[in-house]
Amino acid sequence: MTDTFRAEEARDFGFETRQLHAGQRPDPNTGARAVPIFQTTSYVFEDPESAAAYFNLQEYGNTYSRIMNPTVAVFEERVANLEGAMGGVAFASGIAAQAAALFTLLEPGDHVVSSAALYGGTVNQLKHLLRKMTVELTWVDPDDPDAWRAAVRPNTKAFFAETIGNPGGNVLDIETVAAIAHEHDLPLIVDNTFATPYLCRPIEWGADIVVHSATKFIGGHGTSIGGVVVEAGTFDWSNGRFPVIADPSPAYHGLQFHETFGTYGYLMKLRAETLRDLGGAMSPFNAFLFLQGLETLSLRMERHVANARTVAQFLDGHDLASHVTYAGLPGSRYRGLVEKYLPRGAGAVFSFDCAGGREGGQNLIRGVTLWSHLANVGDAKSLIIHPASTTHRQLSDAELEASGVRPGTVRLSVGTESVDDLLWDLEQGLTYVSKAA
Ligand SMILES: *Cc1c(COP(=O)(O)O)cnc(C)c1O
Repeated sequence: MTDTFRAEEARDFGFETRQLHAGQRPDPNTGARAVPIFQTTSYVFEDPESAAAYFNLQEYGNTYSRIMNPTVAVFEERVANLEGAMGGVAFASGIAAQAAALFTLLEPGDHVVSSAALYGGTVNQLKHLLRKMTVELTWVDPDDPDAWRAAVRPNTKAFFAETIGNPGGNVLDIETVAAIAHEHDLPLIVDNTFATPYLCRPIEWGADIVVHSATKFIGGHGTSIGGVVVEAGTFDWSNGRFPVIADPSPAYHGLQFHETFGTYGYLMKLRAETLRDLGGAMSPFNAFLFLQGLETLSLRMERHVANARTVAQFLDGHDLASHVTYAGLPGSRYRGLVEKYLPRGAGAVFSFDCAGGREGGQNLIRGVTLWSHLANVGDAKSLIIHPASTTHRQLSDAELEASGVRPGTVRLSVGTESVDDLLWDLEQGLTYVSKAA
């Protein structure tokens, strides 16, 4: 079987098959089985008419790699396929993807409602970048449906949340929050970075737009920064709340994205305007590396989750550890939501409090050797960081507490090593903590 597309028509392929094949057929010119890296800025047009048709978006064709590239296109298609989305657009980082997802549907004077339990970089982005475009923001407790409902205003344009929040391990009740968004004709945007489409597909539960930092589990090896936005294709952008997508666009010589492209209106505007103007395009080489990552996503996630469960249980029973936030623990307050949304496991990133406060957390970092001390998650290698000394170091103890981080909190991203080695290393770190105390 050489034509995967034709085969797809014949059968609904499983996730493990699609993570290897979706969005690609072997290169028709060379027969190359791997996705070639099209390291080119631009593409020769056949004639002036087809060039004009591409620029008018009357025909879909490659023009310039800030807007589209064949290697990046396979990555976009593959993530969209795995998420059950209609299509996607890739970006140079997860942060760029989020900005673009929002900018495409926002205008000055609009309002966004967001979960307060988010990745720190996203908190900064929403707090400061939105204000610069005079967009207002309301933070809500993601676990409280009434808070989402109460935050909606006439100028609200979107809900934003993470499948698994950081660092508290909050699991979003996606179906409930999506229903509240839809009651008000609003889209729900979900950052699915920590779950990946293998553990959870938010679109199946009503989310409209899914964003990823591909930097994490999708890439999976800590080599590249990237992001992607995918859209379900079911949201009605002509519902009256989104003239920015339905009305003639001054940024694209009066094009009406919704009327012209129907369900593709949002994605076309995301690419043809937002990516064009913000410019954070994914490089073809990074797309190639992310495709390598996607090929083994399910295999790595199974191992990440199994190791995370074992490490969380070990810490949960340890005298020198407390407040283990892994949502996959039997005693977690999110247990019901995990069973519903994350039946294959609650990811591999969580935090716990090390005995001895700030000093204890720092000594644990000093005491371990196998866990890498760095600011990233989702690498096949296990990672550890002490937020109060690094990502959250500008905050006072009171501000730390409010963001769910205490002086002794340590965040882990559990990798795919032999789990006994991970436990051995944590034990030697904790021994160092108690000796130093
Ligand atoms: C890392 C991360 C981001 C930002 O992605 P970058 O690729 O670092 O720009 C956004 N959300 C979550 C949950 C992340 O972990």
